[in-house]
Amino acid sequence: MLAGFGFGLCAAPWAALAQQCKGTPRDALGPFYKSDAPATGELCVSGSGGTEKLVVTGRVTGLPNCVPLAGVRVEVWQADAHGDYTQVGGARDDPRCLLRASVIADAAGQYRYATILPGEYPGRPRHIHYRISHPGHALLVTQLYFGSGRGIPDALQAVLRRDAQGVWQARFDLTLVPA
Ligand code: FE
Repeated sequence: MLAGFGFGLCAAPWAALAQQCKGTPRDALGPFYKSDAPATGELCVSGSGGTEKLVVTGRVTGLPNCVPLAGVRVEVWQADAHGDYTQVGGARDDPRCLLRASVIADAAGQYRYATILPGEYPGRPRHIHYRISHPGHALLVTQLYFGSGRGIPDALQAVLRRDAQGVWQARFDLTLVPA
């Protein structure tokens, strides 16, 4: 009796979840991608890139049923609070705040990194670039946005809150399409 009751409770949400499972929309790579990002979960150890601390967490899943994907490589890169990228031949870079990283998702597809809130630059709302790779799935290049803007899909908007310490906490889940 109990087992049957539990199954009934769980089955409906699972079916709804499977129906909602869609590949994450793609977005432009942009001109500032570098392939050799440091393997770190801290994009700005020195804090020189900005004062608004941000932690981004999320889960990477795969179609067709949004199963969690282990060992996904998540590459992220972003502008500092002034809208400037590192390693693009401009001002001298702070090696302890490159605002670039490559992190590996755990067995449950979870990833996490700490950084600072990106700034705007001409023509662009605040965003962080993503390049997600996993064997058996198509490469996903996209962007995570902070704040709405024209033509930005809801699926690319950060779910954002500020914790008691004043740190921005963002959630961004991604779903890959089989290759
Ligand atoms: Fe950009």
